Amino acid sequence: MEKAPAKLNLSLDTPFHHHDGSEEWDMVLTSVDLADYVAVKTLGRNGRIKVTTNSGFLPNDHRNLAYQAAHLLATTYGRKEAMNIHIEKHIPVAAGMGGGSSDAAAVLRALNRLWELNLDQATLCQLGLQIDADVPYCVCSQTAHVTGRGEIITQLPKLPPMWVVIAKPKISVSTPSILRRINYAEVQHADTHALVAAIQRGDYDEICDSVENVLTPITSRLYPTVNHLKEQMVRFGADVAEMSGTGPTVFGICRKQSRAQHVANGLSGFCREVYVVRPVSLHTDFAQPSASV
Ligand code: ATP
Repeated sequence: MEKAPAKLNLSLDTPFHHHDGSEEWDMVLTSVDLADYVAVKTLGRNGRIKVTTNSGFLPNDHRNLAYQAAHLLATTYGRKEAMNIHIEKHIPVAAGMGGGSSDAAAVLRALNRLWELNLDQATLCQLGLQIDADVPYCVCSQTAHVTGRGEIITQLPKLPPMWVVIAKPKISVSTPSILRRINYAEVQHADTHALVAAIQRGDYDEICDSVENVLTPITSRLYPTVNHLKEQMVRFGADVAEMSGTGPTVFGICRKQSRAQHVANGLSGFCREVYVVRPVSLHTDFAQPSASV
């Protein structure tokens, strides 16, 4: 069983658009202890990939990012085994928390181990980029400054102690529909370097001051509930609140668990899906899964 943690954007900026239509990213990502669990079993040699999940909302064919990861690794390394992939879904879908990307990254890690491919993290990240911009980060799932099309990962130190309140409004946001609306001439760029420096110093207050997502105005214009949730989080005591990814999930940061719980309780009148979590690093905070998956 491979743990696939959700990611949050502590900052998100896009400095420019590449000619091929993909975005250049400049973002700081972290992972939290809200995770899917992905089990990968290899069977006979008919090459069939079967995906099952405990969620009625997910595709279980080639549209599933976990399927795409398995297919990509099998075709790249000429493996013919059939595979059963079971995803126990806990991360909200189409929420801006990278659930699909994290499942795909979990499949890459699991098959790398199971097939003894010995691929290093950089190779897994390059493969992951063919699936989605967040997959390279999710391969490592450890606080990082992410640039390029999502494949340049500079790891950052562990965050200082903090609690994170996550609120997922009852709407799903299509990432491409938000990205299409970016007007590069108007983007108010984020000071990512200030956030990176604050994390390197372990300065909680500076981190809170530097959290920013340049896509929030776009998503909240379409879904005003995003701004409303941000305001409510701060009103109930979060030190900062921001949207993750293209939304609609909003997160708030608190120094203490009691404060985070207070914020979560306050939000329960506005939003039914609320979590209180902590930042985690895949390799240091989660026990390594057993060798046989
Ligand atoms: P991103 O910002 O990377 O687009 P997200 O966090 O907003 O991701 P996901 O939960 O990854 O959203 O889902 C995005 C889309 O991907 C949904 O339309 C969903 O149907 C599809 N999808 C494919 N595979 C998965 C998966 N394993 N888990 C969740 N969604 C998946």
